[in-house]
Amino acid sequence: MKATANRNNLMSVLWDIQVKKSCISHDDTTKIAHEFGISRMEVEGVITFYHFFHKTFAGKYTIYLNSSIIAKYSGMEAIKKTFENTLGISVGQVTSDKMFGLYETACIGLSDQEPACLINFKPFVNLTPEKVEEIISEIKKGKKPKDICDIPKSKIQYTPTKDRTVFFKTHNTFHSLKQLKAHSPDQIIELVKRSNLAGRGGAFFPTGFKWELCSKNKSDIKYVICNADEGEPGTFKDRVLMEEHPELMIEGMIIAAYAIGASKGAIYLRAEYRYLKNNLEKLLDSYRRKGFLGENIEAKQAFNFDIFIHLGAGAYICGEETALIHSMEGKRGEPGNKITFPVEKGFMGKPTLVNNVETLSAVPSILQMGVDKWLQLGTEKTRGTKLISVSGDCKKPGIYEIEWGMKISKFLTLIEAENPHFILFNGFSGECLSPHDFDREISGENLLLTDIEFDPKKPIDYKYKMAAVGVRSGGSFMTFNKDRDILDIVKNVSDFFVAESCGICVPCRTGNFLLNKKIDKIIFGHAELKDAVDIKNWSQVIKTTSRCGLGQMSSNLLNDAMKKFPEVFIKRLSDNTDFNKAFNLDKAAEEYDQIINEISSDYE
Ligand code: SF4
Repeated sequence: MKATANRNNLMSVLWDIQVKKSCISHDDTTKIAHEFGISRMEVEGVITFYHFFHKTFAGKYTIYLNSSIIAKYSGMEAIKKTFENTLGISVGQVTSDKMFGLYETACIGLSDQEPACLINFKPFVNLTPEKVEEIISEIKKGKKPKDICDIPKSKIQYTPTKDRTVFFKTHNTFHSLKQLKAHSPDQIIELVKRSNLAGRGGAFFPTGFKWELCSKNKSDIKYVICNADEGEPGTFKDRVLMEEHPELMIEGMIIAAYAIGASKGAIYLRAEYRYLKNNLEKLLDSYRRKGFLGENIEAKQAFNFDIFIHLGAGAYICGEETALIHSMEGKRGEPGNKITFPVEKGFMGKPTLVNNVETLSAVPSILQMGVDKWLQLGTEKTRGTKLISVSGDCKKPGIYEIEWGMKISKFLTLIEAENPHFILFNGFSGECLSPHDFDREISGENLLLTDIEFDPKKPIDYKYKMAAVGVRSGGSFMTFNKDRDILDIVKNVSDFFVAESCGICVPCRTGNFLLNKKIDKIIFGHAELKDAVDIKNWSQVIKTTSRCGLGQMSSNLLNDAMKKFPEVFIKRLSDNTDFNKAFNLDKAAEEYDQIINEISSDYE
């Protein structure tokens, strides 16, 4: 009997077919099911889960135009029109000669260079209508996207002084690995624990503790996975790290593997960063040649370890570690129930350490500079530095490496923000900031808005209390000026969560859809006060009954915006439409305050 293929290879087989044929047909699906010994339905389930797998032909040249709010405010609509007019198709269609397919997609990690698109996963940035016409004309003449694409270059706009920067300095390649000869695995874990390094993907779980947990789980095989699925809109710092200093990430993985006793590693690279894959492969080869990957790696206790690259296929939720592991196992990238954690039972049921690119990249630098020096950076509560991706209404978008503790007001000066009014901090699921927040510090503390006590008599006057609390940063900072319509931003965020919910939990799947409709209602001036009450109540249900962080955080921004910018919402409720003939603005404002007050109480 013919042996069935290893399910872990399913995603790469699907990718091969998608790239070769621009779609995965019914016949292909049947063949794959046969090869892997699984049902057709199961393969279909995987194909339809990921945005970049198509069941119908997606064009010899597949164009993905970023439709994030940053792209929209950078002129994406004009670019979309130019693509549509030049190609004679609308978004979602393929030209009759099958040459081009045009699609919209969520953030592609190029927010500082928008409008931007991917053509056959090659990046094109700072698009203008003229540039679009030129690109299409060149491709029609026979040029390949890889020959005419851009090399996206984000500016490193700010770093601490030379002796205090962690990431952007000259690194002696392989140097940190030589330290493995001087330290046992347990000693490495102790050093990481002493540094107080916490997960830089946004969860801030203590890194050393996570390593220790994984090291204590005995197994014949363990895995280290680098989470390079940087899908949080507005975030591109991991891409920049992989472009500028990929050696830090690789050495961080090798050090982690030594510490926890892992023999296999994987970089889960988001498909939007596919263009980085070749360079990363070459770099991995150079580590193999030097004997730092492979068998018998020199250390106080010699060990075996190697790394492969696994390509995602377009699913925000795969940034969640259990979803990421399912995706690597050739399944739909749905988050798992947290009955056990990956450090106990992860990839293939074996203990698995999942860390983000920035977290792993910090480790070799900490070892090189020494933990004592690292502990002098940042604040007493949060040590070290943080990378922040900046985009939106400012003169200096790009990457900032700051020491924790910098005030938002100072940061706004650094980035030369233009009339900052509404800030998306920490991506779409983070907190939104109003000018009342500008005196707060950027922090890695485990403090959220939920930790704040509000004065019920002054529900909106939170500024003095908030000033004492840091703003927790995952890595993105999107600033919007006063002219931007906050409801437009909130709607874009809601559209994103509706599209990205994996659908397992009913409250997340239908709740986010219903909230989205409520936002539409407010935008069109059809909403009544009752809708604000519904938003509050439904958000609470979604938050408390969803399985993973997406559902738990997806309504944060909407509720936060309602609380911090009540005038924006009240104004829209006041429209005297057919729906609201009996609307009384003063009464509505009064009742609105009560609702906001209740939202505030829910956070206490
Ligand atoms: Fe999927 Fe949403 Fe449930 Fe998370 S909360 S598992 S994204 S349905």
